[in-house]
Amino acid sequence: MNKLAKLISELSLEEVRLVKKDLDSGNINKLVEKKLSSEKGKETSVCPVCGMVVRRDSGFYLEFGKEIRKKAHFDELDCLKYFLDKIK
Ligand SMILES: [Zn+2]
Repeated sequence: MNKLAKLISELSLEEVRLVKKDLDSGNINKLVEKKLSSEKGKETSVCPVCGMVVRRDSGFYLEFGKEIRKKAHFDELDCLKYFLDKIK
């Protein structure tokens, strides 16, 4: 919030009025939501088989386990197959 507060304090009165307008119309909220949803896809995991970094919105995702659910993210189908063979 400090960064935003600093930014606002440096704006001209006219710019602040425009910010207020965006705030009232919900545009700022939309911008924040958009940024969050676009960043979500960029979150990464590491493939447990080969150690490659995998984007969360790509590759193969496996959720397994009976009582304790575990999650694994694989870059390639081969890695997923290898992993499944190993835990059999
Ligand atoms: Zn892999």
